[in-house]
Amino acid sequence: MTARILVVDDVPANVKLLEARLLAEYFDVLTAGDGQSALAICEKTPVDLVLLDIMMPGMDGFEVCERLKANSRTAHIPVVMVTALDQPSDRVRGLKAGADDFLTKPVNDLQLMSRVKSLVRLKNVSDELRLRAQTAHTIGLQDLARPDRPDEPGNILLVDARASSQERLLRALKPIADVSIISDPQAALFEAAESNFDLVIVNANFDDYDPLRLCSQLRSLERTRFIPILLVTEQGRDEMVVRALELGVTDYVMRPVDPNELVARTLTQIRRKHCNDRLRASVQQTIELAITDDLTGLHNRRYLDNHLKLLMDRAAARGRPLSICITDIDRFKHINDTYGHDAGDEVLREFANRVRATVRGADLACRFGGEEFVIVMPDTTPEMAAIVAERLRLMVESRAFAIPQADAVHPVTASLGISSLRADGDTPEALLKRADMALYQAKNNGRNRVVAAAA
Ligand code: GH3
Ligand code: MG
Ligand code: MG
Repeated sequence: MTARILVVDDVPANVKLLEARLLAEYFDVLTAGDGQSALAICEKTPVDLVLLDIMMPGMDGFEVCERLKANSRTAHIPVVMVTALDQPSDRVRGLKAGADDFLTKPVNDLQLMSRVKSLVRLKNVSDELRLRAQTAHTIGLQDLARPDRPDEPGNILLVDARASSQERLLRALKPIADVSIISDPQAALFEAAESNFDLVIVNANFDDYDPLRLCSQLRSLERTRFIPILLVTEQGRDEMVVRALELGVTDYVMRPVDPNELVARTLTQIRRKHCNDRLRASVQQTIELAITDDLTGLHNRRYLDNHLKLLMDRAAARGRPLSICITDIDRFKHINDTYGHDAGDEVLREFANRVRATVRGADLACRFGGEEFVIVMPDTTPEMAAIVAERLRLMVESRAFAIPQADAVHPVTASLGISSLRADGDTPEALLKRADMALYQAKNNGRNRVVAAAA
């Protein structure tokens, strides 16, 4: 993982120490000796994370953090407050200032790395989301990937053997998440696989069960491998933490648990999970965009080319009928010439709506190109296809199309050609070709009619 980290401390020895440790892990390190220069660096260079000392002469860490979070150009940079004393009051102030996490001096290596990595991972996914949102915005798809949605409450599974600690942790987490509690680790695994959790918190306090076993099982199950895991361990169990992180546990907190620290880390994990979920959803949307016609929202030709073969193979394998219909708007050029291209687009959209309203859910409606549309009808005999096509023809003819650009209505008709799957071997190209020939005949015979290809 490579990331650029800004270390801010007024004591040069502290800066050097953190810098050396981060460099050893191949992070790119920038340094600042005071708040003002830290803000200046964040303004003009891309920074992935800020390690921020609190006690500094002039502007203290709280104020630096507040300013970073108030500036839209730097608000997305995660900030880790480095506190000299283990002061709960500092943590509360830090959280209020918008800090994402805390570290206590002297900084322990394990903590430093797990926190830094955890926040850098979160930043990576949210950066990706912001980038996509930008692109979506540029191409006019505002709501495809909005990164700045307010935090949605998370869903947490707390696995904890003891009633007393369950209660304590629940009190801290309740304001920020819905918490389900379970004391049996094996039952927890099933629960996690069954439901949709954003985070599993494993408190390592079982009498005769190795908590890392649950962590490793969570990591290996298909249904749970992307759920972040936060481990709660005793002070000084560093070797267990190292093993846990190697197994893919996302973060940890030590007992006695500081509620503020727990809340900050929990929020980080939930945010990251939500960002990841949205990224996956946006990949899905990108795929949909690639197979959808912009103008009409119907499937596009690329999709038809790929999908028709599958539908035909399935029909042939099951000995079921399948028919297709190609329809082409009559004298469409005339509409463009009379009212303009935008009016033509409007007619295409309305035409697509009427196609959608005519076909069944199982039918596949595509814009084939220009003012030509194809409807693939599985389980449909030639006779049935002729009825559907005639219904569509009437749907188009019966009601004139609105031309908002000219504040007018214009009668529109379409010609339709249908063809059906041949039992003795058929190909998409041949099937389309036969429908196209039938369409050509419909045009020649005077338009506004349905012609079926000979079987
Ligand atoms: P025919 O009855 O023989 O089908 O006549 P036609 O005018 O409909 O057919 P022709 O193929 O001559 O013209 C089709 C026109 O459709 C020409 C093209 O500019 C227009 N067209 C193709 N795609 C679009 C589009 O996305 N928007 C608009 N507005 N027009 C389009
Ligand atoms: Mg036409
Ligand atoms: Mg045409």
